[in-house]
Amino acid sequence: MIKYKFKNKRPLISFEIFPPKRDYPIDTIYNTIKALNDLRPDFISVTYGAGGSTKDTTVEIASFIKNKYNLSSLAHLTCFTSSREDIDNILNSLKAHGIRNVLALRGDYPSGNNLSYAISNSYKYARDLIAHIRERGEFCIGAACYPEKHIECKSLNLDLIYLKEKVDAGVDFLITQLFFDNEIFYRFREKTSKLNIDVPILAGILPVLNKKQIERIVSLTGCTLPPKFLRILQKYEHNPEALKEAGIAYAVEQIVDLLSWGVDGVHIYTMNKAKTTRRILNSIKNIRGALVNECVY
Ligand code: FAD
Repeated sequence: MIKYKFKNKRPLISFEIFPPKRDYPIDTIYNTIKALNDLRPDFISVTYGAGGSTKDTTVEIASFIKNKYNLSSLAHLTCFTSSREDIDNILNSLKAHGIRNVLALRGDYPSGNNLSYAISNSYKYARDLIAHIRERGEFCIGAACYPEKHIECKSLNLDLIYLKEKVDAGVDFLITQLFFDNEIFYRFREKTSKLNIDVPILAGILPVLNKKQIERIVSLTGCTLPPKFLRILQKYEHNPEALKEAGIAYAVEQIVDLLSWGVDGVHIYTMNKAKTTRRILNSIKNIRGALVNECVY
């Protein structure tokens, strides 16, 4: 279980991948997983499509990671369209495949008025799902947190109160939404400490690869783009190769700073790009090795 890994070694390094789009065969992801496994992350997480659209593939891919490579996998699971029975079926299936790590989420409401899913009567917030999974007592539970507040919430302070409730419902570790300004993460950590939110928090880092991706992310998450980052976007927006290189360099700089600060772990949103992830890991290889050795206890 992932929670035990934090006891043996910090910082952890983990990756996030998503299942292939509906019309693509599932094995298109297998080469990516093989390449990511070569980098020996502490775990790989697999996202869950909106409204449960990738329910089976998420389980299948998480199982492949676990059983083919003996690498810990973390299955994302959303609840706002699910009944308790749906959730129990998925948890049973995860258990049958030997997967004991779940990232318990509410899920995003579709944009506009076009709500194509029935809303669950059982789960309003991730906290409700976490309480249900905790009741079963079989899983290590991760959850999401938002250094700049969740986009629907009125204020960061209120979001933190809900986060505390969520953690107290049975969370073992947290993963942050992506951010591009480490100072925001450090201030968030101070606030979580003051609220006695004392589970490990992995910092979510997204290497930016193109401008369109960034525009979409900002509109979805409301995250801040610091001046330094905006300058890079403006300077290289018409030179995709240069922007990609700058994006990798920026992610490396963020990670080096986070590691020196003493972060519990870094979660890389790989966007299924194994080569980019390898470039980042190679750049921090020696630093990571030194820190891990220092921190074994
Ligand atoms: P919650 O913790 O339930 O919070 C949702 C909102 O409700 C927040 O605004 C919060 O402030 C508010 N709230 C919480 N409790 C209360 C309360 N008691 N009273 C009033 N308001 C309350 N989405 C997917 O569809 N699939 C994925 O695989 C996926 N993976 C993700 C991984 C990470 C690391 C992150 C950060 C996000 C991921 N998401 C994913 C997106 C996530 O589903 C959305 O951000 C979603 O809108 C909120 O999910 P949550 O679990 O944080 O919700």
